[in-house]
Amino acid sequence: SKNGKKEIHKANFEIDLIDAKDGEVVTRFPPEPSGYLHIGHAKAAVLNQYFANAYHGKLIIRFDDTNPSKEKTEFQDSIIEDLRLLGIKGDRITYSSDYFQDMYDLAVKMIKEGKAYCDDTPLEKMRAERMDGLKSERRDRTVEENLKIFTEEMKNGTEEGLKNCLRAKIDYTALNKTLRDPVIYRCNLTPHHRTGSEWKIYPTYDFCVPIVDALEGVTHALRTIEYRDRNAQYEWMLNALGLRKVHIWDFARVNFVRTLLSKRKLQWFVDKGYVSNWDDPRFPTVRGIRRRGMTVEGLKNFIISQGPSKNIINLDWSIIWSANKKIIDPIAPRHTALELKDLVTVNIVDGPELHAEKKPKHKKNPAVGEKDVYYSSKALIEQADAAAIKDGEEVTFMDWGNVICTKVHKDADGKVTSIDAKLNLDGDFRKTEKKLTWLASEKNVPVDLVDFDHLITKDKLDEGDNFEDFLTPETKFTTEAIADVNVESMKVGDIIQFERKGYYILDSNKDGKYVFFTVPDGKQKK
Ligand code: ATP
Ligand code: MG
Ligand code: MG
Repeated sequence: SKNGKKEIHKANFEIDLIDAKDGEVVTRFPPEPSGYLHIGHAKAAVLNQYFANAYHGKLIIRFDDTNPSKEKTEFQDSIIEDLRLLGIKGDRITYSSDYFQDMYDLAVKMIKEGKAYCDDTPLEKMRAERMDGLKSERRDRTVEENLKIFTEEMKNGTEEGLKNCLRAKIDYTALNKTLRDPVIYRCNLTPHHRTGSEWKIYPTYDFCVPIVDALEGVTHALRTIEYRDRNAQYEWMLNALGLRKVHIWDFARVNFVRTLLSKRKLQWFVDKGYVSNWDDPRFPTVRGIRRRGMTVEGLKNFIISQGPSKNIINLDWSIIWSANKKIIDPIAPRHTALELKDLVTVNIVDGPELHAEKKPKHKKNPAVGEKDVYYSSKALIEQADAAAIKDGEEVTFMDWGNVICTKVHKDADGKVTSIDAKLNLDGDFRKTEKKLTWLASEKNVPVDLVDFDHLITKDKLDEGDNFEDFLTPETKFTTEAIADVNVESMKVGDIIQFERKGYYILDSNKDGKYVFFTVPDGKQKK
């Protein structure tokens, strides 16, 4: 077919970059160090890396650090670490702040050419004027006046400087409102985490990004689609400054149901103590979902499978967790855990002395290794399973064989107190209705099984919704359980399956307390 070649080149993507020459493509991932990397950022990073690789080009990791009020070294370090975790290194790491002098010089150049002016119109009024397409009273300031205000007052952060901002002189009546003389420089006296108090003025995003892209030799700037209106402005800046052309290429932001992806809002949850920190398993940060059991491979597969779609999507989490399940299912060791509450002892008259036998950790994948399964004449099963057993019923104990439950003892409330049983190891497991998980009454380890709910109750917040009105009251659920002794050799971060329960990741094992988090598998919960 006509698309045959493309399909071979990039299996999942239908679109090529415009004007992309093999070996010459330069992309960049420009996070602002104002929070931890979240899954949306991961998509942007993976896509940028993907295109750099596909064209044998280069990827720049650029810290877009032009707002000292929001940025911190802590965030910067965490972003580098999280990118490394995703296998994204970049050919270089750069900082917008390294270009403060260049940008300043270019701003001065723009003023000299009559393409920018200083404006001290109060914020509200300026906003209204921009909205209504009105001319600012300051638009006709002379070059000399603008230069003086910018290079003396604004640059030094004086009282007069603080009242002003610098605006590009584009077109205050433009239909595209982003062209209505956007602000390109503002004063800020907060020390910068890299440049300290050297600068008291900072370029805005709209000014900084096209300049740094051009200066760094970026050929293709990938941007999320909501910036599309600003593409004209981006191009205007490059033309006004006589800088190299950069291709802009839009892709859709990824959103997830019942999930906030704004760093400011996530910071709110951290500050209020609704979550433990940025790596909380309820958070959509790279660290959060990793702690929840997302594998790097699963995450990458998911992002690549989404491709560079242009539709803004509100995804269900089940999509990404199903992608993850494909990775973990073939290798996750199988173990047993039983809910502690109202455990039932099965007394097996002809049961063996307590002893261990080696069994495979994964029936279909011997490479996963072996575990010790303990057998004894006293076995434990969960109350819910026990309650469903009828007197005389033959059931199958997994990894053991058939057992005939001769008598089910119940108390006055119908709760099972114990079961009398005898082995029928020659019995056919295909003929029993119940395949039960069980543990010998000794050699078990206490564990906590922790499940979580989404932090907010509404699938998609509407414009004007305040997320604080949609907080899920309870989001963490702990069940006490016991597990087979083999979990003692697990390391934090290991992912297993507790049979008939699901996938779990070991989150901590301090003081002999094993805490497991449920790893969602993409199936809807009942
Ligand atoms: P936030 O609102 O969380 O601050 P941001 O877009 O301002 O997000 P940046 O650090 O500026 O955060 O983003 C770095 C890169 O990640 C940008 O290229 C941005 O477009 C991209 N990005 C951010 N959020 C998403 C998302 N939800 N889906 C896809 N890409 C995203
Ligand atoms: Mg941003
Ligand atoms: Mg933002």
